[in-house]
Amino acid sequence: MKFVSTRGSQSVSLDEALMQGIASDGGLFMPESLPVFAPDDFADCGTIQQTAVKVLAPFFDGSSLHASLAEIVAETYSFPIPVRTLQEGERRVAMLELFHGPTAAFKDVGAGFLAACLSRLSGGHQQPLTILVATSGDTGGAVAAAFDGRPGIRVAVLFPEGRVSPRQEKQLTCWGKNVLSLAVKGAFDDCQRLVKEAFVDAALASTFRFSSANSINIGRLLPQSIYYVHASLQHYRETGRRPSFVIPTGNLGNGLACILARDMGFPIGQIVLAVNENRLIADYLAGAEWLPRTSLQTLASAMDVGNPSNMERLRALHGDAADLQQRISAYAVSDEQISAEIKRNYAEFGIATCPHTATATSAWRSLDAERRATEDWVLVSTAHAAKFETIVEPLIETSVEVPAALSAILARPSNAVSMNPNLAALAAALKAGFQVDAADTSGDK
Ligand SMILES: *Cc1c(COP(=O)(O)O)cnc(C)c1O
Repeated sequence: MKFVSTRGSQSVSLDEALMQGIASDGGLFMPESLPVFAPDDFADCGTIQQTAVKVLAPFFDGSSLHASLAEIVAETYSFPIPVRTLQEGERRVAMLELFHGPTAAFKDVGAGFLAACLSRLSGGHQQPLTILVATSGDTGGAVAAAFDGRPGIRVAVLFPEGRVSPRQEKQLTCWGKNVLSLAVKGAFDDCQRLVKEAFVDAALASTFRFSSANSINIGRLLPQSIYYVHASLQHYRETGRRPSFVIPTGNLGNGLACILARDMGFPIGQIVLAVNENRLIADYLAGAEWLPRTSLQTLASAMDVGNPSNMERLRALHGDAADLQQRISAYAVSDEQISAEIKRNYAEFGIATCPHTATATSAWRSLDAERRATEDWVLVSTAHAAKFETIVEPLIETSVEVPAALSAILARPSNAVSMNPNLAALAAALKAGFQVDAADTSGDK
């Protein structure tokens, strides 16, 4: 299987696409074609791992990772991804819980898969691979957790000092020696700019052999399709009906993963995207032009994206707005609605929902009555409420129990290096943090 750039001028193997992250022409990698499956093909696949191996195998065709696929899958789907029924009866509604991984958000799936792949690909090299990741909160924690202790790989996480929640900061700063946490005196945009500058700085790039683990890497996207595949197959087997999904989305990664699953033939009905006040996707599907905006800060901060990069992939798959309108719909949810929804979910379903998940329950409640009644809805929960306790607890007026994996992280000591927002400071921090001396920069290593 080849992976081609959405901008057309690069076609590479899976291994290359994973290592490179972004195509050399600035486009995003997509599989050259999608395998098509029928539900019956999975009669012998009871577990998500068995399902994953079967679905992912065609993408690994021709990859040096092909023989390791089962191991990669076992490492990735190592925690439960249950579907919980919220309401029985005529209007049965369920929740797909993606938050049982090490950092309590769905990004653990993509980060785990990417780490399992890259650690195998980086074998053979003398020089370790250095993953640079800029984060506004959730991504950095998931990536650090996934790469923690992996031989041959180092991770530098850049986050805006003082601008992440205390629990998020803990998840960014509590790891072992191969993870360097850099608290940048600046905003998220500074972190992102520094990562881009480092990638194009020839001397630094040759010293560190950089790679990226951000959400445009195809290695984050493919494994996310699997939980939609598995949940839809299970529902279809039990009821003979196709479930419809409501998905909180920002950069469109999680939404696109579901669209890919449906395009591969899995029994998925409607797909509804829920966005926050960064409403570009919803406006576009309602007929507005695609004009990227500056992102607004909202309660669902991990979805504060003004220019969702995966739209480029969605366009490559399905063309223009008119075509997309046939396939997906989107609702924008305000901060007031998010707060009201967190209260209502607690009152009606007895569950604490994180602000991102609340956008999905809100979008579901906004559907017209007929649409709500005729489909089997699965609402997607992208993070555990305990990660956003400062927002959720005052609304539901009770404390949210912290899951075991998260409390283990909270108990660990923190370690971060504070740095100025410029490339020289980043270079110095990387050299000191990873103990690379000047001799290593000569280029002969
Ligand atoms: C990243 C994130 C999202 C948005 O995911 P996309 O892939 O950007 O659509 C939603 N919820 C949570 C909790 C996240 O961390």
